[in-house]
Amino acid sequence: MPQFLSTRSTEQLQRLALLLLIILVGTLNGIFSFIEFREHRKDQQGTLANQATLVSTNLELHLRTTHQILEEIVALNGFLTLNQLQERMQSLANAMPIIRGIGVLDSRGFPLVGTRLIPHGTNFSDRPYFQNAQADRQRHRLYISAPFHDIMGNLSFAVSKAMMSDLDEFQGVVFAVLEASYIEMLMKSTLYTPDMWAVLMHVDAHNGIGVGPRPTDSAGLAQPSKAEVQVLLQSMSERNQVSIVSEAGTEAQIIAASAVVGLTAPGEKPLLVIMGRDHDEAMSSWKRLGFTQAGLFLLLAGSAYWGLIFYQNRRREYTANREADQRLIEEREHDYRVIVERTADCVLHLDPTGRLSYANPAFVNLFDGLPSGRVLNSFLDLVADEDREKALAALSSALEKASEQLLQVVCQTKSGARYMEWTLCSASGRADRVTGVIAVGRDVSAHIALNKELRSRAELDSLTDLANRGHFLNIASTRLQTAKESDEPLALLMIDLDFFKDVNDTWGHNAGDLALKNCARLIQKSCRGSDIAGRLGGEEFAVLVSGTLDDGASVAERLRHAIASENIRLSDGRHFKLTASIGVAQLQAHENLEQLMQRADAALYAAKQKGRDSVARA
Ligand code: GH3
Ligand code: MG
Ligand code: MG
Repeated sequence: MPQFLSTRSTEQLQRLALLLLIILVGTLNGIFSFIEFREHRKDQQGTLANQATLVSTNLELHLRTTHQILEEIVALNGFLTLNQLQERMQSLANAMPIIRGIGVLDSRGFPLVGTRLIPHGTNFSDRPYFQNAQADRQRHRLYISAPFHDIMGNLSFAVSKAMMSDLDEFQGVVFAVLEASYIEMLMKSTLYTPDMWAVLMHVDAHNGIGVGPRPTDSAGLAQPSKAEVQVLLQSMSERNQVSIVSEAGTEAQIIAASAVVGLTAPGEKPLLVIMGRDHDEAMSSWKRLGFTQAGLFLLLAGSAYWGLIFYQNRRREYTANREADQRLIEEREHDYRVIVERTADCVLHLDPTGRLSYANPAFVNLFDGLPSGRVLNSFLDLVADEDREKALAALSSALEKASEQLLQVVCQTKSGARYMEWTLCSASGRADRVTGVIAVGRDVSAHIALNKELRSRAELDSLTDLANRGHFLNIASTRLQTAKESDEPLALLMIDLDFFKDVNDTWGHNAGDLALKNCARLIQKSCRGSDIAGRLGGEEFAVLVSGTLDDGASVAERLRHAIASENIRLSDGRHFKLTASIGVAQLQAHENLEQLMQRADAALYAAKQKGRDSVARA
């Protein structure tokens, strides 16, 4: 449980760390994005201010030229006839596209001479450009008027100069009316996006010439607000160029202004070129980048977070599975250990060289405490010398390739030599990699002895240890077959003890048994290597002799004599003798065992008939 808790809290810590990392990276991202925002806006403001300066510088140049023209007219006044002056003025106005018309007014405000558009007979003394020049009377100063609608209905500016005599008397005013459409064209040429607008504004009048989509006031004039103009003027530096971000109105605007200077009184800024554009439009490229970045970041953060959760879940599952597997392995190991340690079989683990690397208690019980000087290092040390070669072959096979080898060998245990049956299994259970051998062995000595016993019980007569009837018939028929195949002579002796019933009756059944055993011993003694003897039942015996009828008869004769000569001694000191009748027959080519036995039996019967204790030939 505590481990589970600690895993949980580790996971929570990991998630917390990831969240903190995401927040940190997100914050940094936000900060960098904000810095970029500021930079981008500054760039936009700078560009706008430069555009405004471009217009204002251009205008300034035009106004300087206009000023020079007006000065030239003042200088020519009096030297040329009015007609000549008018021609001169017309050609100068034609040469300057920004000038619509030029005129000279006398000291009362009536036109003396002018280009085609200057109306004669009209009094201009109420016009600001007349009044300003008249009031100030500065010889070298150019006055710029507030915008007004000229006689053609176009909004325009006029610039004027006072004409002074050598005695400094006011003689009139020379003026030029500027071409509004030319100024509009000039400003339009600097607009590089559809949301940009520009206004040439007279500060005193607070109106001017405008182009672009900036909203207009009730009079239809392009309209930076008074407050905006105020801010622009206040923050305008020596460079006469400034830009601000204005929140006035419904939409934020980036606004830049540049003053047209150098012609009026020092410090005065009657004309301002003001340019602006929609703030959102100007920042749209930043916005796109910002949103893309934020989107990517959120995607990345989300992926990382869900990735972590997915990883943690998988890891938890894996750990749980591994723990379950581990428990299962431990349980299995425990069970196998119990089996291995409690089993009566010997269990060994042998390394690839055949050395013992593990032995279970059953093995220790059987082999521990061997006569001193014998150390059990390898499996082969267990095996008796005569079986060692066989054991080595089986061990090598099990080590060479994954297999199971059965081995029955004699082993030297602490209780002496025992038959042991071993199963040698290649360890690891993988065909391509044998890491050693697991040997499971058991003492099969008792089993082998029992088998032997059972076999002898099944085959031998328990009283005489001769082959019993069934076994005799089996081996006799095999012997018959080989004799026929090798064409060797074979003789059968059928032996029956005489008056055996009387022996039982006279000396008792035990004495009869003793007599049977004695006879069997004598029969066995009479046999040579390949001869076969058996007890067919009761006091009847048979012997299969390798040889002819004569050979058989001579064996029978010797046997008859031996039985007749044998004195059977009882434990109480009494003794008796008995005789046997024997029939002999030689195997004939066409005969089977049964027929041979019948003929030998017939000979036996003949021997009985002869008076017993005799041998008869078939
Ligand atoms: P004969 O063969 O000479 O004609 O006379 P016999 O008395 O031997 O006759 P029979 O073959 O009829 O008798 C066999 C006797 O052998 C009968 C039986 O009591 C005895 N007998 C058979 N098997 C055993 C045995 O295992 N032990 C003892 N003690 N007697 C046996
Ligand atoms: Mg008999
Ligand atoms: Mg008999």
